[in-house]
Amino acid sequence: MTENCIFCQIVARQTPAEIVYHDEQVTAFKDSHPASPIHLLIVPNRHITSLNRISEDDETLLGHMVIVARKLAENTLISQSGYRLILNTGQDAGQSVFHLHYHLLGGKPLPLPTR
Ligand code: 5GP
Ligand code: ZN
Repeated sequence: MTENCIFCQIVARQTPAEIVYHDEQVTAFKDSHPASPIHLLIVPNRHITSLNRISEDDETLLGHMVIVARKLAENTLISQSGYRLILNTGQDAGQSVFHLHYHLLGGKPLPLPTR
């Protein structure tokens, strides 16, 4: 666990969050400022700052995060209507929490990001 990391604190249950899924590798919880009716964050339990820190050793973890996203899309009934997975990396992408995370967004038509 990395001190002062809000997502590490959520994984460790030291900060409250609406956790919807967890296993030995990942935790998923509701975004505190949802951008769509369904807005979940899927994070590795281990602190990884961003995609820039991912190596070949993390292939299984990243694949697992995507599988969990697919299951959560099914559980929240957005599989058929559609959804979007977003992984912001760095300043230009607007990454604000430096603990790797996927956003799972759905429940309404989603505008494409600004070109
Ligand atoms: P980023 O901008 O880094 O891609 O996304 C960070 C996301 O984390 C934002 O959508 C923000 O609303 C969410 N977030 C930030 N702090 C907290 C928190 O303490 N709890 C929860 N549940 N979400 C948070
Ligand atoms: Zn962290």
